[in-house]
Amino acid sequence: MTHPFLDLAPLTAARFAAIERRVAALLATGQDVVIMQGEALLPLEGCIRGGARPGSTALNIVTGPYGQTFGNWLRDCGAEVVDLAVPFHSAVTAGQVERALSEHPEIDFVSLVHAEAATGNTNPVAEIGEVVRAHGALFMVDAVASVGAEPLLVDAWGVDLCVIGAQKAMGGPAGVSAVSVSPRAWERMAANPQAPRQSYLSLLDWKARWIDGGRRALPHAPAQLEMLALDACLERIETDGLDTVMARHASAAAAARAGATALGGGLEPYVLDAADAAPVATTLRTPVGVDAAELVADALAADPSLPLIAGGGALSKEMIRVNHYGVDATRDAVLSSLAALGAALARAGRDTDVAAARDAVAETWPSS
Ligand SMILES: *Cc1c(COP(=O)(O)O)cnc(C)c1O
Repeated sequence: MTHPFLDLAPLTAARFAAIERRVAALLATGQDVVIMQGEALLPLEGCIRGGARPGSTALNIVTGPYGQTFGNWLRDCGAEVVDLAVPFHSAVTAGQVERALSEHPEIDFVSLVHAEAATGNTNPVAEIGEVVRAHGALFMVDAVASVGAEPLLVDAWGVDLCVIGAQKAMGGPAGVSAVSVSPRAWERMAANPQAPRQSYLSLLDWKARWIDGGRRALPHAPAQLEMLALDACLERIETDGLDTVMARHASAAAAARAGATALGGGLEPYVLDAADAAPVATTLRTPVGVDAAELVADALAADPSLPLIAGGGALSKEMIRVNHYGVDATRDAVLSSLAALGAALARAGRDTDVAAARDAVAETWPSS
């Protein structure tokens, strides 16, 4: 018996290359794009292990948990690491980056997370790219949570290594991911004796075995279903229009922020300044005495399909994430999430105004 997931014709090299070109267009880049056959942590680790080595100094900008992970990999590679950490309820500024670079002229690698779904903030990559460029360091950006949700202009912003995954705003699969690689980044990795080679983490292997051969033969069997899903989500974004998809996420974030504020009950936007809030997801701070994980569990008991989750680790006590991305970048998902949180807060003995939240959402994101 045939099955929609099984018995498929093999994914050809030509199809694989065409999907790479689609990703390149999405990222507004003329650089090489490599589609890695694993979740986005694969190219993120590959980029760091390819770019960092003993003798190099990295500026690691920490605005959330992913930045902390990058710091650990950078140290593991033997690089000197300068951590620039800002509170998770804010964003880093280009001025702070510029200061760190001038205090440490030896910095030759900068890692930054564009938007953090885990903390709900977003960083000004365009301005940061300018100061990193002026300094001459290699610039790596984790854009997993920003791609599809907000502008991402790899070439215009001078990003040397830009990693994306499709599982957030793109509404696609989690099992493959992509990275754009500038000529400078290829040179850095080629000159790094420690860069992964003959390894699943290796970007250089893809260059040698796929790109330099004219993209005619795949180095190994691709993750076919995930590649087809990636192609499908890219096609859907092209059909809807990238601007439309981004506008939907921006509206969802604005509506969630306004609605949560109007809801009351002690719930507040976690990211203090709206300009620093990521379009991909809205984080909320629970009032003292209300455990975020318990509140979310209560809200989800009524409707497990809502895009709500408590913050990770220590944040699980005080942070709620409204993951209004992909199929959940809708007014209804935002409204239903706030209504469920309002009801759960009321059960916890707090005064909430769900009608006011509804009005605020409708006002912020009018139905057209
Ligand atoms: C979501 C995300 C990733 C990928 O991690 P998963 O939790 O496996 O989806 C990487 N970087 C950032 C900034 C993310 O938000």
